[in-house]
Amino acid sequence: MSPKQALQKYFGYSEFRHRQEDIVQHVLDGKDVMVLMPTGGGKSLCYQLPAVMLNGLTIVISPLIALMKDQVDSLNVNGIPAGFYNSTQSPGEQSEVISKLRRNEIKLLYLAPERLFGSENKLVEFLTSLPVVQIAIDEAHCISHWGHDFRPEYLALAGLKDYFPSVPVIALTATADNLTQKDILEKLNLHSPEVFVSSFNRENITYNVVRKNNSFYQLLDFLNKRRDESGIIYCLSRKNTEELAADLKKQGFSAEAYHAGLDNATKARNQEAFLRDEVKIIVATIAFGMGINKSNVRYVVHMNLPKNIEGYYQETGRAGRDGLPSEAVLFFSAGDAMKLKEFAKVEGNPEQSRIMLKKLDDMVTYCQLPTCRRQFLLRYFDEDAPDHCGSCDVCLTEVTRFDGTLIAQKALSAVTRLKERFGANYVIDFLRGSKSEKIWEDHKQLKTYGIGAEISKANWQQYFRELVSMGYLEKSDDEYSVLKLTAKSDDVLKGRQKVELVETEIIEEKQQYAPLAYEVGLLNELKSVRRDIAAHENVPAYIILSDAALMEMATYLPQSMDELRHISGFGDVKLARYGRELLAPVKSYSQSHGLASRMQQKQRKPERKPRREKDGPNDTSRETFKLFKDGMSMAEIASLRKLSPMTVEGHLTNFIQTGDLDVSQFVTHDKLLVIKDAVEKYGDERLAPLKEILGDDYSYVEIKAVVAWMKGMEK
Ligand code: ADP
Ligand code: ZN
Repeated sequence: MSPKQALQKYFGYSEFRHRQEDIVQHVLDGKDVMVLMPTGGGKSLCYQLPAVMLNGLTIVISPLIALMKDQVDSLNVNGIPAGFYNSTQSPGEQSEVISKLRRNEIKLLYLAPERLFGSENKLVEFLTSLPVVQIAIDEAHCISHWGHDFRPEYLALAGLKDYFPSVPVIALTATADNLTQKDILEKLNLHSPEVFVSSFNRENITYNVVRKNNSFYQLLDFLNKRRDESGIIYCLSRKNTEELAADLKKQGFSAEAYHAGLDNATKARNQEAFLRDEVKIIVATIAFGMGINKSNVRYVVHMNLPKNIEGYYQETGRAGRDGLPSEAVLFFSAGDAMKLKEFAKVEGNPEQSRIMLKKLDDMVTYCQLPTCRRQFLLRYFDEDAPDHCGSCDVCLTEVTRFDGTLIAQKALSAVTRLKERFGANYVIDFLRGSKSEKIWEDHKQLKTYGIGAEISKANWQQYFRELVSMGYLEKSDDEYSVLKLTAKSDDVLKGRQKVELVETEIIEEKQQYAPLAYEVGLLNELKSVRRDIAAHENVPAYIILSDAALMEMATYLPQSMDELRHISGFGDVKLARYGRELLAPVKSYSQSHGLASRMQQKQRKPERKPRREKDGPNDTSRETFKLFKDGMSMAEIASLRKLSPMTVEGHLTNFIQTGDLDVSQFVTHDKLLVIKDAVEKYGDERLAPLKEILGDDYSYVEIKAVVAWMKGMEK
């Protein structure tokens, strides 16, 4: 059987994700591998699939005892014999596991590292007497001091290769920085391991930052639209979590608090209720989440600014493990950033303080980005990403750009005059000609002092952020965030480079995914059947079948066992065990509503569009178009409508593309041919390089007009 056939048979999935297939093949070939994949990426399958295909025992090392039962339940539901051995079990249960191992009745054994080499219960010698075919080390970053979750017990795993010299080891983690990565490889003594790094992009998560303005009401607004969905809300303090959970309950939400200060019984009860969908919302400190494998978490909200990007990304990653559209929302206020600064400092350790403050500053930068948030996150983890993701609040917000060259020149000259020794606030006060005593007397004598008085402080802050994010300025790495010039600054100062700045204004929110046309009534029936099965099997509902699978059923209405097999998540065993029971409501619902199977419409999910396409002319550009048609020149329209010439040009070129305006009104025939040639050679992604190639005889309007005309021709 090929890995792909086994994937369908045992797990009910028709396609591999990321590089799962290559990874599985490496293990089957007996090679050591290291896997770096984001949370929810599908790491477990990388060792679970070889485990069912190979003849023998797979040992899975995991630090999270709480998670073992979940994993083992999931495997058993798929008909894969798995077990765990840990301190939560009675001696009777433990010896039961040992006998099963002796009889080769277990394919996967989950263990904490201290079980293997711990002094009082040294399992490793016993395990060497068994036919071990694979060793998986989950959360492998725990072995490294550089990781964020170092566990000394993991260091003993260095000895594994002495006991099992020829057994392939697969190390897995969601922490990817280079230092940790190198450290893991060294400490585990892997033999010429292959390293598989997956993209850390979580396509199904939409990133949103919301400016705080009475966050409780903003939160209620958000939650009211998501009454039936599960989510995690992170707060800063234990007290906050309890208060917020109580407030939400008063509003009729099903919410519980979770933090490290609660007694174990309460923690376990709240966590369990959340897993079983009996509680919809968990209000937690960051102590919650490690080891939470719930696949249908639809949103993760941060009520306060997280301390660093690493933690933030991991927390948001807990949303949408089932691949369905999910949301990350962060409530941001500049005040929070100030407060956290105090906490970030590490007493008596200036070096560590510097690192922490820098990380906090990156977090603030993220919140204030004028550019795609996903791109920033991925670049933070050294991964390249397109300029527009189409599914973060920045990409979903319509922006108007204007020619901000003069503003940029003022900003850059101020930084120059102040000898690159001040942060943005000082530079802005200086530009605005502040009379404050804070401004040095000799600075008040400079010519640049006060040249930006007509622009508000808030706007200046926004412009500086844009200038930094576009690379015309940079901030120093220390806690003072001093503004400095870059290699790109000079061209702006000398007028060789135009700068476009953004006026943001939320016009419309676009939904990225067209909502599936599923049968709501049927979905509810299916959920209740699933609940009964889960109660009978004594496992959480999502272990029986994910929400995504139920959603597919309620959308495509499979009418036979054969059709049901094509619903994601139905492997052979699940199909045999629960197929009929789940099919029955679909059939009766379809019959009573006169519906037939829609299985032939089931295709793969559409790929995310890398770039948001403009939907053609909008109202403001129509207005421009009308004036132009009435005979006004572009310059006249710009001054009448108080728009920059560039915006007016942009408006009009839309109509060249639609064919409402003739390209010859903008460019002569000879020039058109030359520009067309250049576009065909170099592409039209960016205009600046084209302009450079074509030289001074060709204006931006002419180039834009030809690009629009060519786009119109393609249609
Ligand atoms: P990780 O350990 O990387 O955080 P998991 O192993 O828990 O992620 O996988 C996340 C979810 O994705 C699980 O529900 C898993 O069953 C599902 N999954 C894994 N591989 C595939 C696949 N090839 N097709 C569909 N779903 C998959
Ligand atoms: Zn984006």
